[in-house]
Amino acid sequence: MSSARIQLKNFSQAELEDWVQTQGHKPFRGRQIFQWLWQKGIQEFSEMTNLPKSFVEELVKKCDLKLSSVHQVQTSRTQETSKFLIRLNDGIFVETVLIPEGKRVTVCLSSQVGCALDCDFCATGKMGLLRNLTSGEIADQLLHVRRFSEQPITNIVFMGMGEPFHNYDQVIKAADILNAELGFAHGARKITISTSGLVPQIRRFADEGHRYKLAVSLNASQDSSRSTLMPINKKWNIAELIKACQYYTRASSNMLTFEYVIMDGINDNLGDARRLMKIAGQVFCKVNVIPYNEVVDEYVRPSKKRVEAFVEALQGARFGVTVRWSQGDDIDAACGQLSTIAQEVIGR
Ligand code: SAH
Ligand code: SF4
Repeated sequence: MSSARIQLKNFSQAELEDWVQTQGHKPFRGRQIFQWLWQKGIQEFSEMTNLPKSFVEELVKKCDLKLSSVHQVQTSRTQETSKFLIRLNDGIFVETVLIPEGKRVTVCLSSQVGCALDCDFCATGKMGLLRNLTSGEIADQLLHVRRFSEQPITNIVFMGMGEPFHNYDQVIKAADILNAELGFAHGARKITISTSGLVPQIRRFADEGHRYKLAVSLNASQDSSRSTLMPINKKWNIAELIKACQYYTRASSNMLTFEYVIMDGINDNLGDARRLMKIAGQVFCKVNVIPYNEVVDEYVRPSKKRVEAFVEALQGARFGVTVRWSQGDDIDAACGQLSTIAQEVIGR
């Protein structure tokens, strides 16, 4: 059975170096394998041409290389966004999105199949949590997209399916593979992890000194509305979240990004803008206003005029404001539109 085989892609570089030693080889063999897996992206053991033939034969007997495969790629006509439906070994699916915008080419990775946090406006939240992804399954998404993309990938965001900090260890392990010289050699400051606001993990992330960028989904300016939109707010409210964000910016000296998904009649009035100005003004941050992508019936994207008025009301704030009009609406590849529930049912 393939499940009993050792999945080489789920090892970190250090774990691979340790593992080869248990097999009677020198640590540098582990580094070579790591480089073949990620930097070179090989698909067969026989391609590991700098390993002794006998070692390759051992690997073929004991190990596995394949964690996932591309099941389908959909490319939007209007915006050139591509959505990858990726099949995992147990038959369930995750989605990964490629967003080329001029020289900036962003890949949006999933960290879980579904999400347990149940935000009221989010398609992934409606799926519930099926399972966590392993570090190998997360990094594999980038391997698939890199093979497909005509341009080099410049930015990686953990903003696909799932709550990255709910799968903290595997997400950090995956980010370390993306960042590793012999992995994808992707700059830490070009890798962003987005969280819905898991306070202990924000503090842990600060304490561990990771250099990856942090984004926090604020989405409301009052506890009452944030608790309705994001049940996690009942556990850690806005005040506790802001304290954790301050702790992070002080510990890291890095700015963070607040994401604010703006929804018509929910969080888009001028009172919200004033309160947001006060809340976010306490943190070394910028604010990214994301006009809602309509996936849940109760919520509607505000008119362009209303979004502009909201942004206008934030003029003079201590932080910068950007508006991100999501790409890929026509293929359901925009933020919060990722859901593999239908495929999951078919896939079983
Ligand atoms: N779970 C993490 C990361 C994945 S969601 C988080 O919540 O931060 C990435 C971003 O998409 C979050 O800021 C979330 O608020 C936003 N989002 C979710 N559903 C959306 C939708 N329908 N339209 C626009 N943005 C959405
Ligand atoms: Fe999960 Fe993020 Fe969606 Fe909330 S917005 S349900 S945390 S994926």
